[in-house]
Amino acid sequence: MSELIFRGGTLVTVDDDHRVVVGDLAIKDGVIAAVGGRYTPTQRDFEIVDATGCVVMPGLVQAHVHTCQTLARGRADDRELLDWLHQVVWPYEGALDADALTASAELAMAELLLGGTTAILDMATVHHTDAVFAAAERSGIRATIGKAMMDAPDPAIPRGLRESTQASLDASEALIERWHGAANDRLRYAYAPRFVLSCTDELLREVGRRSAARGVGIHTHASENTGEIAAVAARFGKRNIEALHDLGVLGPRTAIAHCIHLDPHEVDLLAATGTHCVHCPSSNLKLASGVAAIPELIARGVPVAIGADGAPCNNNLDGFLELRLAALLHKPRLGPRTLPASQALALATRGGARALGLDAELGALTVGRRGDVIAVDLTGPHVVPVENPLSAVVYAARSTDVRHVAVDGRVVVRDRALTTLDVAAVTRAATTAAHRVFARI
Ligand SMILES: [Zn+2]
Repeated sequence: MSELIFRGGTLVTVDDDHRVVVGDLAIKDGVIAAVGGRYTPTQRDFEIVDATGCVVMPGLVQAHVHTCQTLARGRADDRELLDWLHQVVWPYEGALDADALTASAELAMAELLLGGTTAILDMATVHHTDAVFAAAERSGIRATIGKAMMDAPDPAIPRGLRESTQASLDASEALIERWHGAANDRLRYAYAPRFVLSCTDELLREVGRRSAARGVGIHTHASENTGEIAAVAARFGKRNIEALHDLGVLGPRTAIAHCIHLDPHEVDLLAATGTHCVHCPSSNLKLASGVAAIPELIARGVPVAIGADGAPCNNNLDGFLELRLAALLHKPRLGPRTLPASQALALATRGGARALGLDAELGALTVGRRGDVIAVDLTGPHVVPVENPLSAVVYAARSTDVRHVAVDGRVVVRDRALTTLDVAAVTRAATTAAHRVFARI
């Protein structure tokens, strides 16, 4: 039983009316108890954090990241998707040991939390996914994680990543048993078939069936790159989203990263099934994949979230950078009023919450939602004067302006310092582990 009070800030609620309120934000036993006004603590165990000069807002929710890839930051620049996978990322993932995975995940989670991202949908690699869950448990981040499933008989998949259909399903079930709902439901599982090309039909069908039966989500990639789409067409004689639909993978529990190259029928399938599209603007630009038609997807009723993807294709995991880029990227084509600040901010918070199946619990400051809250300092010379706090958050603020972060009402960043992990030790371990892993390849 404890209370946490953010005092002195301006509350950007991202609620249905986009209310901006001055006053306290109080969290009681992990749940938001008051929004605005002056809050009087009701318990002896309470903490007040100073949010003077800050916007207090829901933590960013990134619905597509790979915390397992962080040690490959800067190792795979200037390549397109399939070369990027085959030449660097798969050999790297195949060479990871459990200690290196711990170092990679902790590095990612330190960056994410310090930058105001409080919840993630994370695709791990094929093996050692327990290490990623354990890192999430320690770091304090809210994470829905899945081991990458890769059972296709594809010679491009390195030996360290190849697995049988049964082994892939069994390993997923064991992880669900250990971690789904752990840490007061802060840790959850999502099946993560990597993409159509790395999976057999049998695996994808079984994942669709089990997801529906157990209520566990699905996290995958699709329609990122034209070479990928040509390979999918050669195998199935159909489009990528059609193939996933026919295998029973689409639905409101499924989040698909990228969705760049879609035909109108595929958009209809996403909308009709309530499948989430996760927009990854930096990654899509860096891998020269293209620009997803996000405003059109939203207009057709496709639920959209935002994610940074992985360090080797971004090269940060910066939720504010992705938010700003998502807001800017579509304006040249569709006009300056496309994705205004309020709508972009909702994608980065409520859109992500929805993709995680946690829309009633995360993504806005309303009484009863979980206490995943950040305070962003708006007093820097790159932000003032602040006429409109939403504009300041989306167009001017940076992740380095994040001052305090709470997850489930527990302070994990206080005055820009991570309270859960020793950042100097994490960055040292990551550098050492990266050398070890790349020496092994
Ligand atoms: Zn990805």
